[in-house]
Amino acid sequence: MTQCPVCLTADFETLLTRARVPVLQNVIVATEAEAREFPVARLRICRCNHCSFVWNADFDPDAIDYNLQYNNSVQASGVYLAHQQAMAEKVLALPGTLKCLEVGCGEGEFLNVLSRSGRLEKAIGFDPAHKGTYPLGEGVEVKRAYFDEAAAATLPGDINVVISRHTIEHIPEPRPFIAAIAAYVTARGLPLFLETPDVSWILRNNAFEDFFYEHCSLFSPRSIGYLLAEFGLDAEVEAVYGGQYMWISAKPSAARSRHPDAANDDRDAGAGITGALAYWQDVVRRHGSSGKVAIWGGASKGVTFALLIDGVDCAIDLNRSKQNCFMPVSAVPILPPEEALARGVNTIIVMNPNYAEEIRRQLDALGYRDRLLVLQDAA
Ligand SMILES: [Zn+2]
Repeated sequence: MTQCPVCLTADFETLLTRARVPVLQNVIVATEAEAREFPVARLRICRCNHCSFVWNADFDPDAIDYNLQYNNSVQASGVYLAHQQAMAEKVLALPGTLKCLEVGCGEGEFLNVLSRSGRLEKAIGFDPAHKGTYPLGEGVEVKRAYFDEAAAATLPGDINVVISRHTIEHIPEPRPFIAAIAAYVTARGLPLFLETPDVSWILRNNAFEDFFYEHCSLFSPRSIGYLLAEFGLDAEVEAVYGGQYMWISAKPSAARSRHPDAANDDRDAGAGITGALAYWQDVVRRHGSSGKVAIWGGASKGVTFALLIDGVDCAIDLNRSKQNCFMPVSAVPILPPEEALARGVNTIIVMNPNYAEEIRRQLDALGYRDRLLVLQDAA
């Protein structure tokens, strides 16, 4: 790859490389052997000095099969449900009844939240990896397909809002993805809402655990604004989920292609990633020598932490479908909290600071009095 996939300039640098990462993070692997043999691929994370877009230049879409027991549900956490509800409120701030299009709707959880509000007249979701895990809410329909121009032509004429949450970070070519959505909303004058991780947060926090294969395209407020402006959309970006995600409200622009002129403030961020890795390796080695170290969180962050840091005894996760399974490649077991404590775990590292308080209460209730550390606290 010789140019930035967003702004098409050649002014970019390699931020980090990893030779063997699992091609999927949120998978259920039933046996240790299967976990060790899990398909791997290369990560070469590049950063554009012009628009600040961050991407995996070695990404190969054919390496990923989202139909392989993919499970990215974090619905067990009250904190996550509250976040989802807060994002739904932003859509529900629109007047009248909603007729939604969601691009990359997963199992339809977000459309179901909108449906429960009583304000949703209809919703059509697109997701090629949709499995039909849950019943869909009233008025919600899901098409197991990618959204493109041909798909747009099949939609009813009265759609009045377009949403795409946690999808664009999985898309290796974000320009045609946004082009199709922008053409649709511009022709109809519709509001567009996007939600995606904020790579500026990742870099500022040296969050090495947030770089993984599935997220091949990582945006900052500047680069998402740049991309949307390329296709005639004005964007307002709001930090949500403790700053880890961006909520982007976009609409067709009156004057075409006004690129954001904010300074590229990510240029020097991320320099401490290697140091953060070494710091946590030292923490796990020290505390592991006098007990057992567990991580709390068997999803994306936990899978990467256990892959890069030696000596993690187990991962704790409340997602029942993951319990007693293994994390890909590292083959670290995922257990319910009671079982982890019964193994003699006396240091627990919380992978996501957003859940620290919730986890502290759950551990209190279980009588855990040993060490509890939070990943971002020391980064
Ligand atoms: Zn760029």
